[in-house]
Amino acid sequence: MNPSVADQLARVRERVAKACASAGRPESSVTLVAVSKLKPAALIREAYAAGQRDFGENYAQELRDKAVELADLDGLRWHAIGALQTNKVKYVARVAHAFHALERLDVATELSKRRAGMAPLPCYVELNLGGEDTKHGLAPEALPGFLAQVRALPNLQLVGLMALPPPTDDVARMREGFARLRELARTHALSALSMGTTHDFEQAILEGATVVRVGTAIFGDRA
Ligand SMILES: *Cc1c(COP(=O)(O)O)cnc(C)c1O
Repeated sequence: MNPSVADQLARVRERVAKACASAGRPESSVTLVAVSKLKPAALIREAYAAGQRDFGENYAQELRDKAVELADLDGLRWHAIGALQTNKVKYVARVAHAFHALERLDVATELSKRRAGMAPLPCYVELNLGGEDTKHGLAPEALPGFLAQVRALPNLQLVGLMALPPPTDDVARMREGFARLRELARTHALSALSMGTTHDFEQAILEGATVVRVGTAIFGDRA
């Protein structure tokens, strides 16, 4: 039998706690976002029942649908973590607690517009550190100009940087990518760092992640 979501969540929480201890950081300094994309709402309920409150979704329509289906779960916080198109911004603006993949000014402008009348939306700018064509995210050189433009938007709150570094099994290289994101955030006076997935979240915590986005280790492989 497969381990339950509650068991897997408990394992991940232990690993987060251990990484925090190694880094000399309080556990409260890291938010675990359970990435539930492509997983049924029933599994989100299981994780919620086990105390999980922060959930990550990649696809705007899926987020919209799950937010409706799970509206009874008090205090659940949705993190939109995937690239967005302007025509889907409205779904995110209405329900998200944070947006982790800001990389386009037209999307930022539309998000700010759609967020009017609500608390400013905390946003992370996504960077493409490896210069990979297949990945989303802004080139580091474009960051200063982009930040200045986003800071002028009234209903967004820039909180930090996000990246999904090139996959590697080389721990030193993982750490390098995360350290680079941390330094860029520091340079631009941003305090939050959304980095680390199932594959590398412990290394990310050792390099200062304030948010880790973990899917597979909690919910199992995606189809
Ligand atoms: C899917 C996804 C994750 C989670 O990845 P896992 O390997 O399942 O932990 C994290 N961040 C982003 C942006 C994702 O798309």
